[in-house]
Amino acid sequence: MPIRLLSSEVSSQIAAGEVVERPASVVKELVENSLDAGAKNISISIADAGRALIEVADDGDGIPAAELDLAASRHATSKLVQSEDLFHISTLGFRGEALASIGSVSHFTMISRVASAKEGARLKVDGGLAGKVEKAGVPVGTVMRVENLFYNVPARLKFLKTDVTERRAIDAMITRYALAYPNVRFKVTDGRQSTLQTAGDGDRRAIFAALYGVDVAKQMLEVMAQEDGSGQGLSLSGFISPTSLTRSNRKEITFFVNGRWVQSISLTSALLQAYHTLLMVGRYPLTALFLEIAPEDVDVNVHPTKAEVRFRSQDKVFSFVQRSVRKALLAYTPVPSVSPQLWGTRSQSNLPDRHVGIDWSIAHDEQSSVGSDQLPVASDESKVEGQKSFSTGVPLLRLIGQIGSTYLVAEGPDGLYLIDQHAAHERVLFERLMAQRAIKNIPAQALLSPEVVTLPPQSAKMLTEQLPFLNHFGFEVEEFGANTFQVRAMPVLFSGADSASALRALVEDFEEDETPLQAEVEARLAARVCKRLAVKGGQTLTSDEQRSLLNDLEACQSPRTCPHGRPTMIHLSVDLLERQFGRKGAR
Ligand code: ADP
Ligand code: MG
Repeated sequence: MPIRLLSSEVSSQIAAGEVVERPASVVKELVENSLDAGAKNISISIADAGRALIEVADDGDGIPAAELDLAASRHATSKLVQSEDLFHISTLGFRGEALASIGSVSHFTMISRVASAKEGARLKVDGGLAGKVEKAGVPVGTVMRVENLFYNVPARLKFLKTDVTERRAIDAMITRYALAYPNVRFKVTDGRQSTLQTAGDGDRRAIFAALYGVDVAKQMLEVMAQEDGSGQGLSLSGFISPTSLTRSNRKEITFFVNGRWVQSISLTSALLQAYHTLLMVGRYPLTALFLEIAPEDVDVNVHPTKAEVRFRSQDKVFSFVQRSVRKALLAYTPVPSVSPQLWGTRSQSNLPDRHVGIDWSIAHDEQSSVGSDQLPVASDESKVEGQKSFSTGVPLLRLIGQIGSTYLVAEGPDGLYLIDQHAAHERVLFERLMAQRAIKNIPAQALLSPEVVTLPPQSAKMLTEQLPFLNHFGFEVEEFGANTFQVRAMPVLFSGADSASALRALVEDFEEDETPLQAEVEARLAARVCKRLAVKGGQTLTSDEQRSLLNDLEACQSPRTCPHGRPTMIHLSVDLLERQFGRKGAR
């Protein structure tokens, strides 16, 4: 075929494809325009999952009648004048493409009035062809009506998913903006039925309740962090779910940067690192986080839908987000109710010396001021420090004994603790290993006689891929013929453990996951090995072993869960016991 210039109809449909992919993208563009126009009320009507109708009405600034025509043409925007403006964008729109794109793939009607005009105007655009601007008696603000979306692009229409899916995508989009703009009233109707309404009174938690239910909203933890005290620079606010509230996918992880919803791999992984080892494998938090950053430090002009952003200092943003979330998470993780007067006074004389002199009120105050952005680090010296400083910590415990060869029983200042010895040991090994790894010093011990392990071909292939990991982590493993490996050394931490078992732990029931960060992979593999080599339930421990396990657990930074997120202990508080024994009336 000879080279030809595309007709404007075809080229505008191609361009439209980048911005308007599905009904939800139309909703996004229109809502963003309303927000840019300073609307306080935004009403959205949807029919037929957005195929038949998407209407967005707002009470924003409006468009002067004389500019309606221009607003609908490509590269027409009121938000950007010169190219330097691109580097400090404070509006959601700036590309001047949305209305033109929408107009080229639908029956599009724009109705608008500015405050200074006595009446408004209406303009219809059908498949990219604009009609005449007509007068219209309407209130100040704008109504954008999109009918029969993609009527002239059958290929697009074919790619749409079911109504349920498309509608869900629309709702998810509106949900995000409702959360991001709590001062704006959003109302969504489907036919006559109202499906969502927010109050516009700035109460984000209430919006959460409207969207996710009161139960979820109540549990959400608030994040409020500022890079420095000056009020300048980075700040992060919003909500994160506690570790007890998770989802099986990342869909409920929402980030906004300067009020713009973005999908950022880097922000998401910063978030997941903050939750690291506190959630079970394959579980994800639910979050709505709002990052504010100087406009010149972020490039939003990366993608036509503006859903991707690039930060000038990626590392700084990453670590700020990770640190802030981790801090909030640790500060809120339930602390056992400390009531020394109840338990303490009664049994103080029986307690070992080390118990005396701990000022619980101080320990409590310190919790909020100490951040932990690092992977857990445990060392003997940090024992007392660690348990005082972290709210996820446990108080010093007095060992009572072991039951069922599976659980340790211990007394704390605030009640009784039942500890799962396996989960506890897993946690201890994991934190030690990761701490040694962090300083790149994992002491290894050569085996007296190298152990040879043969694995099924599929597992062997997997293990081959994991060899670099093993050799980073104090193992010395090499291939030794087909599907066979030779283990020559193991981390001292695991001395005495079965090395074949450690290797199998790495390759058995491996869950295929979405591609995680290298750091995540390592920690996950380390967690698997620790799980495999930790003492088991049903294994009788000597009193010394019990005591040292308890001490080691106390020294952990996150002693309350194993690295896979399961609890290591159950706490029966004084209060609970008193109630159960009828010593105290139910309140
Ligand atoms: P952009 O938002 O990138 O500027 P659009 O194609 O979305 O491009 O919109 C073009 C222009 O139309 C905007 O710059 C704005 O001036 C005007 N406009 C669009 N929607 C509205 C609205 N709801 N209220 C007021 N003005 C609007
Ligand atoms: Mg726009």
